[in-house]
Amino acid sequence: MRNKVTCPACRGFTAVNYHTERVRGDTKHTYAQCENCDHKVTVHYTNSHIRKLLKRQQSTVNMVQKRKLADKIQQLISELSEEIKSS
Ligand SMILES: [Zn+2]
Repeated sequence: MRNKVTCPACRGFTAVNYHTERVRGDTKHTYAQCENCDHKVTVHYTNSHIRKLLKRQQSTVNMVQKRKLADKIQQLISELSEEIKSS
């Protein structure tokens, strides 16, 4: 996965490299790192439950169910991020 973005820290135009680091337990932090200044931009946090749902969502053909799963995943991801930020 490689995207070109403007880095919010150095305002440089950079190819963003995605990384994953373990935060605690089964929680993983996916972030993009700027090539110019090493600034970390959070993409999302996931845990094993969310990753299981993501896999299921990828293999779901029914568009209505796929959409429902996507909403559920988004909700769980934002709840997890809030939990991590507040701890
Ligand atoms: Zn930067």
